[in-house]
Amino acid sequence: MTESYIQLDLLQSLLDSHQQAFAVFAEFLIEENQKYNLTRITDTQQIYSRHFLDALAAIDLLDTLAAETGKPLKIIDVGSGAGFPVLALAIVRPEWSFCSVEATGKKVHFQQLVCEKLQLDNVQVIHGRAEDVAHQPPFRAQFDIACARAVAAMPMLSELLLGFVKSKGHAIFWKGSSAVRETTESAGAIKQMGAEIKQTLTYTLPEERDKPVEFSLIVCQKTQTTPEQYPRPFGIIKKKPLA
Ligand code: SAH
Repeated sequence: MTESYIQLDLLQSLLDSHQQAFAVFAEFLIEENQKYNLTRITDTQQIYSRHFLDALAAIDLLDTLAAETGKPLKIIDVGSGAGFPVLALAIVRPEWSFCSVEATGKKVHFQQLVCEKLQLDNVQVIHGRAEDVAHQPPFRAQFDIACARAVAAMPMLSELLLGFVKSKGHAIFWKGSSAVRETTESAGAIKQMGAEIKQTLTYTLPEERDKPVEFSLIVCQKTQTTPEQYPRPFGIIKKKPLA
């Protein structure tokens, strides 16, 4: 497994070049959040840092993977909440196609409205549970990348994500300070899902620098077909997470 550090400074220009879209998104998120409680992050500065910049932390990695496949990426985000990381990535890479799976209706509706407002025609928003959707043929092993942020611990999340991933494709987990522990704890689960941990990328978000909190992207690559029985029903995943 390789480890490296991501410099986020260059991402400001990416935010700047899509300034209008991000401004509309942030404003609408603040407005709708007052009605529907979509995210606990509520002020504009934090939305830029903890939502937009954090989502875009993966962009260099994704650009590298896109260059390797030689085709526009197909990405699925599981448990995308108010649209993170999926919608931020869809704004900056209109040529890639994105699928967003979210279990809570009000969040799905919010994402659909954002897509309409920003004319994001590269996103399909699905109201459903990952463990069901991952068994449907149009979604099974169809994606270059499956990703998730803040949904569940890695052993459970590996089971929810890897069924979506094509052979040689990748799963990307956005993680906080628990990354090292979770990487160790999920090694067996990831192997059972037909994948292996390939890379960890760490970064620090700007406003956190005086009290340095490290965030990580944990990258797994699928090397074998995921056994058909996975993902299992959620109650079972939760009760008996893969060891
Ligand atoms: N990824 C977003 C939201 C995190 S909150 C962010 O980082 O901001 C976790 C979200 O995952 C919730 O909105 C919840 O409804 C959704 N979720 C949890 N389990 C899920 C599952 N099995 N399938 C689909 N969505 C799920």
